Amino acid sequence: MVGSQSQSQSKGKLYIIGIGPGSVPQLTVRAKEVIESSDYIVGNGTYLDQMASLLNDQEIFRSSMGKEVDRSRKAVELAQDNVVAMISGGDANIYGMAGLVLEVAENADLSVEVEVLPGVTAITAAASVLGAPIVNDMCTVSLSDLLTPWEVIEKRLDAAASADFVMSLYNPKSRQRKSNFSRAIEIIKRHKDDSVPVGLVKNALREEGQDYIVTTLGDVLEYNDWVDMRTTILITTNDSRVWESEHGKRIITPRGYHRKYDY
Ligand code: SAH
Repeated sequence: MVGSQSQSQSKGKLYIIGIGPGSVPQLTVRAKEVIESSDYIVGNGTYLDQMASLLNDQEIFRSSMGKEVDRSRKAVELAQDNVVAMISGGDANIYGMAGLVLEVAENADLSVEVEVLPGVTAITAAASVLGAPIVNDMCTVSLSDLLTPWEVIEKRLDAAASADFVMSLYNPKSRQRKSNFSRAIEIIKRHKDDSVPVGLVKNALREEGQDYIVTTLGDVLEYNDWVDMRTTILITTNDSRVWESEHGKRIITPRGYHRKYDY
């Protein structure tokens, strides 16, 4: 089975597409081509609006947040006979729709060919705004406890901070979860120095509303009210630093070249 996929009997195909941070220029060329040529586009309103300029005569199945299971079922059913593009923000594998759609397809016992197309995810979109805050070992942690118990999230935050990974916090807040972000910072502070550079990026690489803050772990909670569900936070490492020039502040996490080379 290495590298091969069984040939589907149906005429349809289901693409699960990571559309990137939320603007057409940040799509992969392949994602754009597939969206433009699909029979059906399935997605929530926000993602469909972000892709509005690519929607021509495709049939649109619009659903809201919280309706992910219905949306996945619909996409799997439609893909029996049609080419369907299920669109998901960022990368569909990073807290996106890929997992649920494959689970629904597995349980539906229908023959459906699925292809997942990758997209630029929030950690790399935010990192590009901040300069070079990753460049070494990193991890992502979602602070949403809707589908993961908070105890598990705390354990992962503690373990990642103790290993001094660059940490990216997704889903830092929602209307129902206002304190998760400050609780997460307190856990990370057990292990990382207060001087560790922290970048907060809102609406990274979107056409509207991009903004960012560079601060430190010791001071980040001063910006607690600024953080919302469109924000990704990058907590860097004890080796990271801020380079300040007339062009602004950039975060640098050294890869380790300085240990081998003079520059
Ligand atoms: N699949 C998405 C993540 C979905 S979880 C991805 O790969 O990026 C939703 C969270 O992602 C948001 O709460 C926010 O923390 C982050 N996010 C998504 N797009 C973002 C953007 N353009 N700018 C900043 N954060 C973003």
